[in-house]
Amino acid sequence: MPKYIFITGGVLSSLGKGVASAVIAANLQAHGYKVRCRKMDGYLNVDPGTMSPYKHGEVFVTDDGAETDLDLGHYERFTGVSAQRTDSTSAGRIYNNIIQKERRGDYLGSDIQVIPHVTDEIKDFITSNYTDEDFALIEVGGTIGDIEQRPFVESIRQVALDVGRKNAMFIHLSYIPYLKTTGKMKTKPTQASVRELLGQGIQPDMLLCRCDQHMDDSMRKKIAMFCNVSERSVISAITLPSIYDLPLLYRKQGVDREILNYFNAPYKESPDFTKWEEISENLTSFKNEITVGIAGKYQLKDAYKSLYQSLLHAGLKNHTKVNIRLIDTEQLEKGKLGKDIFDGLSGIVVPGGFGFRGAEGKIRTATYARENNIPYLGICFGMQMAVIEACRNLLGIKDASSSEFEKGGTSVIGLMTEWEKEGEVEKRSVDGNMGGTLRLGNYPCYLTENTFTRKIYNVENIEERHRHRYEMNIAYEAALKEKGILISGKSPDGTLPEIIENINHPWFVGVQFHPELKSKPFAPHPLFVSFVKAATML
Ligand code: GLN
Repeated sequence: MPKYIFITGGVLSSLGKGVASAVIAANLQAHGYKVRCRKMDGYLNVDPGTMSPYKHGEVFVTDDGAETDLDLGHYERFTGVSAQRTDSTSAGRIYNNIIQKERRGDYLGSDIQVIPHVTDEIKDFITSNYTDEDFALIEVGGTIGDIEQRPFVESIRQVALDVGRKNAMFIHLSYIPYLKTTGKMKTKPTQASVRELLGQGIQPDMLLCRCDQHMDDSMRKKIAMFCNVSERSVISAITLPSIYDLPLLYRKQGVDREILNYFNAPYKESPDFTKWEEISENLTSFKNEITVGIAGKYQLKDAYKSLYQSLLHAGLKNHTKVNIRLIDTEQLEKGKLGKDIFDGLSGIVVPGGFGFRGAEGKIRTATYARENNIPYLGICFGMQMAVIEACRNLLGIKDASSSEFEKGGTSVIGLMTEWEKEGEVEKRSVDGNMGGTLRLGNYPCYLTENTFTRKIYNVENIEERHRHRYEMNIAYEAALKEKGILISGKSPDGTLPEIIENINHPWFVGVQFHPELKSKPFAPHPLFVSFVKAATML
């Protein structure tokens, strides 16, 4: 059984609880411990797969094909531990499980209640599916006091009681505002938030106080006294230029020491923070600077979270500061953006996407990159748009399109109806459910010999994460090849095109998968490293 660390948040949302959990996990890893991070969300969607990226940000896909909250991306990027389906849940999933059990008659006539049935289901999620982890970090989504959160908070209280208070620790992330008029940082919201938590039966053991500058000793003393927490466990979680500086900040403030002390677990005097020191160093010593265009329809940064991070990771490796310019492809296709929108771009990414809106703008962006020799990385939808572009403008199929758009024309991109998964054939029909029915998660891909992409990866076989319903029609392979567009990666059975490249272009690659989901600051993804390198040299 792992030791549990429960992370709750108070005062405001968006304080970065996901990052905080991941940073704590990275601190524990530096002492040689094995960790697993999990997240519980209060919404009634069964998973975030059906939520709009406008509001909720990116959907993070795990190796085993679960569509999860973007915080799981932070966990992976900080710890390098691959997240699993069993690391993410929501109120919707919990209730869905319960209702299915009820219909099966599993509850044998009893009336089903929040306590114990909902809480037992949540406790089951918290305490199951471990191997040999030392610590499980469980993040409770939302803000303390939210009505959706209550069953989750009640469940963590019960787990702590079940496993013994010394095997479970409560960490609360709160906010210390700065009042300009008085020139003071204020502790009252934190006190109120802790009181709310206490009202639900939880005494926090550590407070991470988000603030813009360090709190002085007297302020920490005050918070410690009012919130009944030891002074050493009141931490200034100040805002830093990069989230990747946080592991060292937490270390400096003794977060690792306090946690290990709480659990009475061995503490190394010289833990291994080397990789974080290197990253922090690289963050302040860029030698080049470029701007990469991301051509998509979502203006919310979180919608492309992993993509931004992957470009940053590849930038660290190349000593290149990568600035991002978002190109709104809906505006582009309406003619509302000036021609200068592409000026000064050293590279262009067309990321994943769904639906017709903005698609013509993405196709136009691919044309621009191809014709002007600008490094182009098409991810999933971005690969599909590059294929349509090539079919229209290189093969002369003027009505080339995707069946996803339901606009007629020649479907050079079509609905995938069956594919192989671990030796079995998975099937989908045109009118299937929207939720969880895509081709999701890790699938192998064979890289064609003597191709540009194979050189980049420098291996024969790769595994990458997918999230799509449509695929390139392989019937166009030969015709496109004549024009220099090669399929350089395919599914092992040779039926699904996974990668295209343009051999007449300095750097033009489209991938049917999402490489951005696997990049880490300390292990940047080879495709991004190569792309940023090419863009830097442009
Ligand atoms: N909409 C496309 C598909 O379903 C692409 C999906 C994506 O970019 N993730 O195939």
